[in-house]
Amino acid sequence: MAQKSWANWSGWVKCSPKKVETPTSEEDLSGIVRRARGTVRVAGSGHSFTPLVETDGTIIKMDGLTGVELFSFDKRQVDVAGGTTISALGLPLKDYDLALANQGDIDKQTITGAIATGTHGTGRALGSLSTQLAAFRLVTANGDVLRCTPDENTDVFEGGRVSLGALGVMSQVRLRCRPAYKLEEHVYPMEVGHCLNRLDAFDDANRHFEFFWFPYADHVIVKTLNETQKGAPDPRPPELRSMRSAENKVMQLACEAGRFIPFLRASLQRYLTTASGESTRVRWSCEAFPSPRTVLFNEMEYAIPAEHGADCVREIAAFIRGRRINVMFPIEFRRVAEDDIWLSPFYGRPSVTISVHQYGKQRYKKLFDGCEAIFRAYGGRPHWGKLHSLTAADFAELYPRWDDFLALRQRLDPDGKFLNPHLKSVFGVS
Ligand SMILES: Cc1cc2nc3c(=O)[nH]c(=O)nc-3n(C[C@H](O)[C@H](O)[C@H](O)COP(=O)(O)OP(=O)(O)OC[C@H]3O[C@@H](n4cnc5c(N)ncnc54)[C@H](O)[C@@H]3O)c2cc1C
Repeated sequence: MAQKSWANWSGWVKCSPKKVETPTSEEDLSGIVRRARGTVRVAGSGHSFTPLVETDGTIIKMDGLTGVELFSFDKRQVDVAGGTTISALGLPLKDYDLALANQGDIDKQTITGAIATGTHGTGRALGSLSTQLAAFRLVTANGDVLRCTPDENTDVFEGGRVSLGALGVMSQVRLRCRPAYKLEEHVYPMEVGHCLNRLDAFDDANRHFEFFWFPYADHVIVKTLNETQKGAPDPRPPELRSMRSAENKVMQLACEAGRFIPFLRASLQRYLTTASGESTRVRWSCEAFPSPRTVLFNEMEYAIPAEHGADCVREIAAFIRGRRINVMFPIEFRRVAEDDIWLSPFYGRPSVTISVHQYGKQRYKKLFDGCEAIFRAYGGRPHWGKLHSLTAADFAELYPRWDDFLALRQRLDPDGKFLNPHLKSVFGVS
C-alpha cells in the first residue's frame, strides 16, 4: 500500500484513491476484493483515455501477478497471469515457438487491460485480442474465483471477454496462440483517392493493412505487414528497444510548431507524409506490431461497419479541413473481423476503426465533438478505452446483447463494488 495517486498515460485522468493494493497471488487478490469497502477498480498499465480506473476508493494494481506458462503445446495455449504486459509476452512465447495472432500498435498494456476494452490491431481476417481468449479466471465482488470457459460458467465467458473490469478481476487468462512467425513491413505513401477506392483489394492482398492520413495532406501513409520466411534478427528484450526514435522526435517538433504557428500545419503534414519515403523490414511478429509512442496525445476511436469506412473517413478529414481544426496527428484507419462478444465494438459486423488524436498539450473538445457526430451517423461504436460521450441509452441501441450484459453484471456484482462514476453512466446505474 504505497502510492496514493494514480494517473493515466496521457495524464488527463487523475485520482487519489484511499488505497492502492498490489496483490502477489490470486488468493491475496481474492482477499483484497472480498474485504474492500467502497469502490474497487483494477488498473492495467493506465493506457485508457476514458476514466475507467478513476476512483477515490481502492485501486488494485496487477504488477505483482505476472508470468507466462505453457498450458498445451498441441493446442498452442498458454496461461498468462493478469498483470503481464503484452511486451513481456513476446520472448516467452517465442521460446515456446508461439506468438499472438495479432496485436495493436503498442505493447505496453497489460494483457487483461487490453482484453477488457477489446483492444485490436488490423487485418480483415483477424479479431481483437479478446477473440484470442480460450479461458479466464475471474475474482468476483465477494472474492470467489470463477473458472470461465466455453463450457464452464459459459455466460460469464461469453459476456466477460470484453467487460471493462465491471464483472471482477481477471487473475489469469488462457490465450490461443499460433506458431511463431515473421512479418515483412512495407511503409509507403499513396494518393488518398487511390487508397480509398481500393480498400477491399488492399485488405484482401495483405494480412495486415492500415493507413495514416494527415488530414491536410492529399496522400496517406500505408503500412502493410505480411508473413514471410525471410531472415530476421532475434527478438530483443523489449526494454532494449529505443524509446526515442527519430520519428517520435520529428512528431514532437511538428506538434509544437503546429500548435504555435497553425498556418504551417498543411505544409508540415505534406512533409510528414512523404519525408520517410518507402521502407521495408522483416522482424518477428512481437517486434513488428508495436511502435514506440512517446508523444503524448488523447484519442477518440469508433468502429464503423466496414462498408461505410471510406465514406466516413472522407467526411472526418473534410470536417477537420473545413473547420480548420488545429491538429497535427494523422487519422488512423484499420480493419477488424467481426466477433460474437457481447460488448465488443465488432459484435456481429466486419468493421473498420477510425481514430482521431489530439496532441496532449492541446484541447480536444472541438475536434472530438465534431468527429463523434460523424461517427455516430455511421452507426459507430466507440472504443471503450478511448474518449467518447455515450451513455447507457446509446449503448442499448448499439449492442444487441446489452441487456444480457447488464443482467450478468447485476448478478455478479449486485452492490456495484466495481462501479465508478464513469461506469455508472455507461451502465445506467444511479
Ligand atoms: C499510446 C496508445 C496506443 C494504443 N494503441 C491501441 C491499439 O493499437 N489498439 C487498440 O485497440 N487500443 C489501443 N490503445 C488503447 C488501449 O489498448 C486500451 O485502452 C487498453 O485497455 C489499455 O490497457 P491497460 O493495461 O493500460 O489497461 P487500463 O487502461 O489500465 O484499464 C483498462 C480497463 O481494463 C480493466 N482491467 C485492467 N486489468 C484488469 C483485470 N486484471 N481484470 C479485469 N479488468 C481489468 C480496467 O479496470 C479498465 O476498465 C492505445 C492506447 C495508448 C495510450
